[in-house]
Amino acid sequence: MTKPKLATCSLTGCFGCHMSLLDIDERILELVELVDLDVSPLDDKKTFDQPVDVGFIEGGCSNEYNIRELKEFRKHCRILVSVGACAINGGIPAMRNTVGLRECLEAVYLNGTSLEGDGLIPNDEDLPLLLDRVYPSHEVVKIDYFLPGCPPSGDAIWEGLKALLTGRVPALPYLLCKYE
Ligand code: SF4
Repeated sequence: MTKPKLATCSLTGCFGCHMSLLDIDERILELVELVDLDVSPLDDKKTFDQPVDVGFIEGGCSNEYNIRELKEFRKHCRILVSVGACAINGGIPAMRNTVGLRECLEAVYLNGTSLEGDGLIPNDEDLPLLLDRVYPSHEVVKIDYFLPGCPPSGDAIWEGLKALLTGRVPALPYLLCKYE
């Protein structure tokens, strides 16, 4: 029997949400039975060659590469889930939204005290172009579900994922969405 397919990506984040996905411990064996992994940093598959049932987005969009990748996920994933604070509201990377991009680059590369650089702002054409600010995923594409947390716990990810993969609407119990 064909299994549903899961794709995951990490845009501008810290990979902590992916670590949390792996933090489901022995249930990872159940996950392997339940789903086929498609595009993901976990298996290093980089391009879609078929539609995918569920896509997990970690991280917000801080550069043009993130925008391209997010749009590819929207095009190929039937259900798209924003996982974690960075995908949902930009998270810590969005702290740069309080200053202009130029000011931010100057603070890091020209005026920073922690970097011994060559006094230049990197400008290599191979570097992805930075956006004016960090955008949450839903400001770029339509997102079907939001899984909050920084990161969401392995239990929350497991419950949400299991519901989506078995055709149920995720309804996480209060304790899985409570943060202190
Ligand atoms: S939400 Fe938290 S854990 Fe997830 S990528 Fe952002 S900073 Fe990392």
